[in-house]
Amino acid sequence: MSGDCAEPGDCQEALDKLQEYLDGEVPETRLGEIRDHLSACYPCGDRASFEEQLRAIVRRECADRAPEALIERIRIRLADGAATAS
Ligand SMILES: [Zn+2]
Repeated sequence: MSGDCAEPGDCQEALDKLQEYLDGEVPETRLGEIRDHLSACYPCGDRASFEEQLRAIVRRECADRAPEALIERIRIRLADGAATAS
């Protein structure tokens, strides 16, 4: 297995929509294709589970308020050097 995506455009789309997806804000018409992509594409699926873990930690550690600085600190800690430049 190469681990590469068959359709790179879909990765961008999936990652763009990831936050909305986790928030349950993706329209039903788009939900299926994003979910399919996340289950078929290892890097994106991995990213999605990372973001889910991040959200779970933030919710647990900071039940009613999650300052951006804290989220960023946890994100960096979890990413463990695998930072992506934007
Ligand atoms: Zn992908």
